[in-house]
Amino acid sequence: MYDIIVVGAGPAGLTAAIYARRASKSVLVLEAKAWGGQIINTPDIENYPVVAHISGVDFANDLYRQAIGLGAELRLEKVVSVQVQGKSKLVRTAKAEYEAGAVILATGSENRKLGIDREQELTGRGVSYCATCDGNFFRKRDVAVVGGGNTALEDALYLAELVNKVYLIHRRDSFRGEAASLERLREKDNVEFVCNATVTALLGDKRLTGIDVTDKLSGAVRSIELSALFVAVGRIPENESFRALIDLDEAGYAVAGESCHTRVPGIFVAGDNRTKELRQLVTAAADGAVAATEAVKYLNV
Ligand code: NAP
Repeated sequence: MYDIIVVGAGPAGLTAAIYARRASKSVLVLEAKAWGGQIINTPDIENYPVVAHISGVDFANDLYRQAIGLGAELRLEKVVSVQVQGKSKLVRTAKAEYEAGAVILATGSENRKLGIDREQELTGRGVSYCATCDGNFFRKRDVAVVGGGNTALEDALYLAELVNKVYLIHRRDSFRGEAASLERLREKDNVEFVCNATVTALLGDKRLTGIDVTDKLSGAVRSIELSALFVAVGRIPENESFRALIDLDEAGYAVAGESCHTRVPGIFVAGDNRTKELRQLVTAAADGAVAATEAVKYLNV
């Protein structure tokens, strides 16, 4: 029996653990994959206050050490369901059952797929969702990044330092990602922008050797020879296990306001899997602090 179980060890979940431990609550953090969440895929964080530059992996490791140092417990187990039994919450993983007074769902999101033929088959054979994990395999080769958000822009900047050439393929000609990153990319000699275009075929037998890109305005198809395609087309909230427990919006985000309360007393949601305007490291951390503080208030009543 714990005071608080946090589901997910990303920036929101680990910040929640820090705040809950500092309020003297017992805390178990359950994580399906590795601590840090999606931030471990970010090569260089430049927009977190006070810290001018830090890699995503260093950020995640520092945050983990801080939470564990304060006495939070972390287990690498995937949560399959959460049930409310009066004041108590039953959290089931593939291995065990745990009980807590309050639960904070901080499961974040997973990579959205492009949804084209052979994407799954060629994943790990030239198709990748993580430039920092796999970029190094493609030194001095030609690669493409698809997407127009911060992840795509940061991936393209990172890869431009490693590879021969980066094609940045985006389905529109304006970008969601930060203007500062876009400006830096435009200054790179080895980055070619392919806008108003979608990837319509993955080429190659056992490995990716190229892609077909279709111009959305003219319909013209261009084949580009490549060694890798980095897909950075957004994220999908990881809330499926909680569909019967809390309200989700049509895109699958857990419905909750800035207080991080769900409609179920004692169940809170923090970070990228919550309905919100701005999904950033700093807002994930803020959610973790708010959710833990609200959970502590709930437990102390
Ligand atoms: P995102 O902001 O949702 O952008 C996804 C991009 O992929 C959009 O440009 C979208 O195009 C495009 N897209 C979506 N589905 C597509 C499809 N089927 N085919 C082709 N293109 C498709 O996702 P993200 O870049 O992963 O970022 C997620 C969140 O994390 C954002 O809030 C972002 O700001 C944040 N983030 C922050 C940092 C940082 O703070 N350093 C770093 C990385 C990410 P449209 O624009 O046309 O919709």
